[in-house]
Amino acid sequence: MAALGTAERPLRVAIVGSGPSGFYAAAPLLKHEAVCTIDMFERLPTPFGLVRGGVAPDHPKIRNVIKVYEKTARDPRFNLLANVKVGEDITVEELRQYYDAIIFACGAETDRRLGIPGEELAGSHTATAFVGWYNGHPDYRDLSFDLSQEVAVVIGVGNVAMDVARVLAKTVDELKHTDIAQHALDTLAESKVREIHVVGRRGAAQAAFTPLEIKEMGALEACDPVVDPAQLVLDPISEAELSDNNKAKNVEHLRAFAERTPEKPRRMHFHFLASPVELRGVGRVESMLLGRNKLEGDTPFKLKARPTGETFELPCGLVFRSIGYRGVPIPGVPFDERWGGIPNINGRVTENDIPLQGLYAVGWIKRGPSGIIGTNKPDSLETVKLLLEDAANLVPCETPSTEAVLDMLKARGVRVVTLDDWLKIDAAEIAAGEAVGKPRERFTRVSEMLGVLEA
Ligand code: NAP
Repeated sequence: MAALGTAERPLRVAIVGSGPSGFYAAAPLLKHEAVCTIDMFERLPTPFGLVRGGVAPDHPKIRNVIKVYEKTARDPRFNLLANVKVGEDITVEELRQYYDAIIFACGAETDRRLGIPGEELAGSHTATAFVGWYNGHPDYRDLSFDLSQEVAVVIGVGNVAMDVARVLAKTVDELKHTDIAQHALDTLAESKVREIHVVGRRGAAQAAFTPLEIKEMGALEACDPVVDPAQLVLDPISEAELSDNNKAKNVEHLRAFAERTPEKPRRMHFHFLASPVELRGVGRVESMLLGRNKLEGDTPFKLKARPTGETFELPCGLVFRSIGYRGVPIPGVPFDERWGGIPNINGRVTENDIPLQGLYAVGWIKRGPSGIIGTNKPDSLETVKLLLEDAANLVPCETPSTEAVLDMLKARGVRVVTLDDWLKIDAAEIAAGEAVGKPRERFTRVSEMLGVLEA
């Protein structure tokens, strides 16, 4: 039998997930001298993962990477099999029958939990839900957010928290020419939210947001950032952390905010060294009890938040928990509940620390939910290098045929969305956007997306 990775018998790789880490795994495989065929599986009819469903609509430049991914997708050795749920429409065990290697690139689709009383009260939401909703993600299409409330609290000071706070703070005029989902724009147009409180459990020097994202809060049309200068007095170890240029710039922006006199109708208040202890309310969120923290530790960049015992109550009608994402287990694949990802050594999936042949992981499901889009490039490359090293020893799959996979899915009633299909959906969204002065008007229901393909 011909060796895997030759023209006679290409190495067949399934990539599960079509976000950045999946595409950054596909590209080096296609560039390598070994001959590979790649089938990329995606559960939605639309590809690109968080680049489509997570990136904020008012940050369109970040989405430009899609052009690079589309180039990869147009390679004749690449197939998109979207609208296919791995673990449901096809099991991982079945995938093994058709592919020599499987790369899990399925990201971190759910949220970490605070684990405090009241977390589930009406009016308390995850950032994932809000972001998915304003980006028209079909999973979150039918959620509702009661923006008749005047006070919202965003927990966490990462870039997702910044996206959530900024979308709440912006006017309709600032958002209407973006590709924000129309249902979200309509709801935001009626928003009564005036006070947005952003809460970080550690100090200003430890905030996870990046300088551009915090700087933007100083240039909003109708919202002023508010920071108490006392919150920006740093202890010596926090001062030492300003050796990190990003952290220094963050603090510089916050100090500039602290000097301003707020004049605009909306306010974004930054609170540091505070953690939510309890959400209170009868039937829905009415206030949040917060505990004041102090920093503990003597090593820069390793400081931890510790409660001082002092608490304060913040009346609020809306809460957005933005404390990081978490992976979702895939049936038949090991999962580490402690950190919410697939256990692996440098991308080789492991069980009890032993690599499982033919299974690999990239991106957030491999390393946890950190880093920007570009971080996934070296991360995926690390995994791909190991996969190619292993190629000679992989057990060849029984049925090396994409046609066979498509036939099986068709027999199961799955409408596989190919690259050509996606391009039709894409064109229809862009055309719908043109009519209303937006870069695109997203379809927010799977049935609408598939409807385009029936026309
Ligand atoms: P993140 O950057 O890890 O921030 C999570 C935030 O939640 C941190 O402030 C963290 O505080 C806090 N937190 C965690 N557990 C908490 C708890 N139990 N109680 C209170 N606070 C808690 O995560 P993210 O904002 O979800 O973003 C994920 C990644 O995507 C990041 O790398 C981010 O930069 C990236 N991203 C980038 C952009 C962009 O480039 N514009 C946009 C969105 C996201 P500690 O620091 O104390 O743990």
